[in-house]
Amino acid sequence: MNIFIPKIIVKETAYTKLLKHIYDTDFQYETGGILLGYSCLQIFYVTAFTFPRHSKNATKMTFILNGEEHMEEMEKVRKKFRFPPKLIGVWHSHTTDDSSLSFQDKESNEVLVSQFGEILSFIITQKGVDGIQLTAYYISRKRTIHLCKCKYNK
Ligand SMILES: [Zn+2]
Repeated sequence: MNIFIPKIIVKETAYTKLLKHIYDTDFQYETGGILLGYSCLQIFYVTAFTFPRHSKNATKMTFILNGEEHMEEMEKVRKKFRFPPKLIGVWHSHTTDDSSLSFQDKESNEVLVSQFGEILSFIITQKGVDGIQLTAYYISRKRTIHLCKCKYNK
């Protein structure tokens, strides 16, 4: 069997915004959103993240992505680009240092795979005193899960 593991490149300015948002939550509750970008020739290029508008329903243990809200945010982001990026995955934070996908995470990822084909799924966790760790998973059309490495670029 031929397993292809994609390369992931995250745009630095987008990653900086993500870090700022995560620091604001201080890992007190889970947060998350959509990954926007381009995919081509086994490379995923992440150019933007969407963020929740408020933390009203956020809890320590679960993150429920408000689909409607994030689709609206996604359209706002897309308008800023000459070649609008598309939905290539989702991201959410964990308040613990567990960077694995939970049973629920896997279930919601599978729903997205059935809609969009292959997707990326990023988990953000705390690392050390004030560090942040990004763990990237690739979920193929056949629903196999692969851990990927990320590079950060301009
Ligand atoms: Zn999770």
